[in-house]
Formats: sequence, C-alpha cells, structure tokens
Amino acid sequence: MYEHTLTHMIHNSVQNLCRRYSLKKVNRLLIKVGGIRKINPELMTFIFAGLSRGTPAEGAVMSVMILPVSLKCYACGHTWTTDEAEFLCPRCSGRNVDLLSGLEFAIDFIEVESNAS
Ligand SMILES: [Zn+2]
Repeated sequence: MYEHTLTHMIHNSVQNLCRRYSLKKVNRLLIKVGGIRKINPELMTFIFAGLSRGTPAEGAVMSVMILPVSLKCYACGHTWTTDEAEFLCPRCSGRNVDLLSGLEFAIDFIEVESNAS
C-alpha cells in the first residue's frame, strides 16, 4: 500500500533526526502531501503510531495536510486548483494540462521536547 511506503519514509527521517540530535521525545509533526497522491491521512497516522512504538516518536501527534492540486492549461493558459485528479481545462476543455503542484511530500515541521541538560 502506498501509505505504508510514505509513512516508512517519514518514520526513517524522524528516527534519523532523533539519532543525530539525540532527541528524547517527539511531540508533534506535520506532513504535507499533494492531493494528487490520493493518500488516506488516517491510515498514515495509524501506520506511523505503530512504527514509532518504542522510539522517541511514540505517542507523537502526526497531522497530515493535503495540499490542493494546481493545474495549468497549455492551450489557453488558464490555471486552477482542484481536489480531483481531473486533467481537463474547465475553460476550454483542453486536455493538455501541466501539473503545477500537487505532488508534494514533505515533513513540514517536527516539534520535539527540548532536552537541555
Ligand atoms: Zn484551457
């Protein structure tokens, strides 16, 4: 499943950060995913909770923000955003459209407990 692949990538990044900066606890993280990826946010949070058991990220609240799909028509230059993966210009019905955004996949921020000693 696609959500497994993406969540494993997030999990690995978080674990690398924890090792590099000797983090003891991750409180929250925000993931931004482009709408074209059609992921299920609840499933990703669920998988992440399972993966982070026994790690500094155990119990961390993961939020998944779905970013809109932004498209541009080559024929008439019209740009628009949509929730659907529909590559059809609403102005001229052209099918030759460019994907401006919607494929994003990134960890936007991670909130950790400061471990100042
Ligand atoms: Zn058009």
